[in-house]
Amino acid sequence: MTAVHVPGLPVIEADRLISTSPATGAEAGRFPVASEADVRQAVDRARAAGEWWAGLGFTGRRERMLRWRALLAKRIEQLAEVVHVEGGKPIADAIVEIVTAIEHIDWAARNASRVLGPRRVRSRLILAEFSGHLEYQPHGVVGVIGPWNYPVFTPIGSAAYALAAGNAVVLKPSEYTPAVGQWLVDSFAEVVPEQPVFTAVHGLGDVGAALCRSGVDKLAFTGSTATARKVMAACAETLTPVLIEGGGKDAMIVDSDADLDAAAEACVWGGMTNAGQTCIGIERVYAVDSVFDAFVDKVVARAGQLTVGAEGSDIGPITMPRQLDVIRGHIDAAIASGGRAVLGGPSAVQPPYVHPTVLVDVGEESAAVREETFGPTLTINRVRDADEAVTRANALPYGLGGSVFGRRRAVSIARRLRSGMASINSTLTFAGMSTLPFGGVGDSGFGRIHGEDGLREFGRAKAITRRRARSLLPSMTFERTPTDVARLVKAIKVMYGR
Ligand code: NDP
Repeated sequence: MTAVHVPGLPVIEADRLISTSPATGAEAGRFPVASEADVRQAVDRARAAGEWWAGLGFTGRRERMLRWRALLAKRIEQLAEVVHVEGGKPIADAIVEIVTAIEHIDWAARNASRVLGPRRVRSRLILAEFSGHLEYQPHGVVGVIGPWNYPVFTPIGSAAYALAAGNAVVLKPSEYTPAVGQWLVDSFAEVVPEQPVFTAVHGLGDVGAALCRSGVDKLAFTGSTATARKVMAACAETLTPVLIEGGGKDAMIVDSDADLDAAAEACVWGGMTNAGQTCIGIERVYAVDSVFDAFVDKVVARAGQLTVGAEGSDIGPITMPRQLDVIRGHIDAAIASGGRAVLGGPSAVQPPYVHPTVLVDVGEESAAVREETFGPTLTINRVRDADEAVTRANALPYGLGGSVFGRRRAVSIARRLRSGMASINSTLTFAGMSTLPFGGVGDSGFGRIHGEDGLREFGRAKAITRRRARSLLPSMTFERTPTDVARLVKAIKVMYGR
């Protein structure tokens, strides 16, 4: 990468990765770029540290992780400032992001023992003479690759659960947000100074690729679907298991019996918080014909009041300079497909900012409907009824989250959405509920972070049987007799042959 100082565009100078504010170009931090050998060394060190960490047991880890959580809570304003400067995110959005991450650390620390710890499982009539034991043991070292748009919430969503499960973690933050990633590992090291249990390696995509090939025992990736394919290909070489949290193009459905004021308020927030740079952000809306006009008016009225700018505004700058071209391209594509801008439009793109834009009657084949826009833009299309809304919502390869506003049919619509998550009469709320799993289907990935499934994702099931009595019907032995086998046949017919 050449050392051209475009605000927000990271550069490498003298083996240092330098990140800058997308709003002002001010330097946010500089960090040594890791070579392939450095990445391997970090993983090797983490492996030894992981053994020590696993040896602390659930109680020792819980106590330390709760202290880390407390440190984050005490320094929430400081971390929010780093997120704000480096990514351009408004302070209030950064605070909400960190609050959610703190909640996940707390839940993972408190529940790891219950979910993953050793337990007896019931045996059945077949093999009743054995008891069953189950526990989830740590993988060892988990590599975490994170994006820039939620540089606290996304790595913590994997790292906190991996750590609680007894793994060491090596994090490769996005090149756009290395200072936030370093802040997280430094704060953890304050609480756990003994061993490098949670560390970071910095650099561009090649450092992420090196992490995939470094011998990590599991790789948790959050980022675009295109990069996810490369990550899986690299991990396939060593059969390294992967967790993929990919992109999305989440839909919101507004049914005829929806509270339109609440729907409009949630739609504007779900689509435009963090300037629309949200994997689970609302990008497409399907409103049924009978409420379409009233709903669009309410969305436009609210979105039109949002303030745009560097400090104290609702909408900050677009973090990645090249994303501005994508956003402008999607607005143009929406209009070329027959859509209309009822708020904003092509002139809303004023680098590094994009003003709120609402597009209606957009062609379903347009890039504005089919691809991630990652800007404060919404498409709102009219549908006959909720069934048509579900069909259109489910028409894309993505399937991350989604939202439904309505009463009578809301739950059944939410269940029919082809997505890993949905919120009814709210947007994005499932991300903050630590008791629920988070993840997508199709091009949005697989595997789950958060909740019990999120903890199990970072432990491998260890199944143990233990004999507790002599076998009455010996079968799994060459000592069995023809009479034993005949008895077994008789027993199975009595038990299951009805
Ligand atoms: P990218 O896919 O561009 O990058 C994600 C991470 O992968 C970065 O750290 C990047 O490093 C790294 N990387 C790049 N190339 C490789 C490679 N060949 N091998 C390994 N790692 C690599 O995504 P963005 O950072 O642009 O994030 C935005 C995307 O993330 C959106 O699609 C969004 O929807 C998705 N996302 C998904 C979430 C979810 O939970 N499902 C949550 C948040 C975002 P570098 O930055 O240095 O290039």
